[in-house]
Amino acid sequence: MTTLLKIQNLKKQFGGLTAVNDVSFSVAEGETVALLGPNGSGKTTVINMISGAFAPTSGRIVLAGENIAGLAPNRIAHKGIARTFQLVRILPSLSVAENVMAALAFRPNHLWGTEARDRAEHLLLEVGLGGRGHEHANDLTYIDQKRMELARALAAEPRLLLLDEWLSGLNPTELGVGIDLITSLGQRGMTILLVEHIMEAVRALCSRAVVMNVGTKIADGPTADVLADPAVIVAYLGD
Ligand code: ADP
Repeated sequence: MTTLLKIQNLKKQFGGLTAVNDVSFSVAEGETVALLGPNGSGKTTVINMISGAFAPTSGRIVLAGENIAGLAPNRIAHKGIARTFQLVRILPSLSVAENVMAALAFRPNHLWGTEARDRAEHLLLEVGLGGRGHEHANDLTYIDQKRMELARALAAEPRLLLLDEWLSGLNPTELGVGIDLITSLGQRGMTILLVEHIMEAVRALCSRAVVMNVGTKIADGPTADVLADPAVIVAYLGD
């Protein structure tokens, strides 16, 4: 398998606090990998460094052979990394289609007008919002807002999709729908790194899991093995 993302000795300090300490792991092309760990273990900080929100204190973030550590978020987006946020970010006063078209206008090969409208409709179909582009973004249910946020992330045609607790807050029925949607993205070849607390989703979606605790990596391997690892169980019990 070809490595798409290689994290090498990544470190982030906030003043005297080392939030991420010497973390290394890889994600292969087409893989869906979970980044796990109890609260405060440094997962979001890793995602923030990969997407460019924070510059690492040291270490490398190599995407398809190129070190992107410390680049600005828009440059990293143009290199092919898209993300969703823990709290859904939408443009509430616009229609569903306009929300996706706004994302299309910001990608490197900007799409406008009819082309953008057609592409937005296609993306909405892909996330289960086909034919609903005219609706007001504010009127969407929570799961539908999440679908739209995913369509906005996919608008960039990313090589790597970062999902930060995208499934959190969904009811059991919606959770099943959400898992199916991410599964279908994976089946179509998307490479996905996800932070997730819902273990049912991790087991269903991720072939591999990386676990952090207090800023360091404590496990990395096939999901079933990692979740049965005593060191991982102890870390979670202390949460
Ligand atoms: P997780 O996502 O695993 O819950 P975080 O990456 O959010 O963990 O946090 C790891 C540590 O870094 C925590 O101790 C947190 O308080 C600290 N931290 C995160 N972001 C900042 C920040 N912007 N400034 C200072 N400390 C931060």
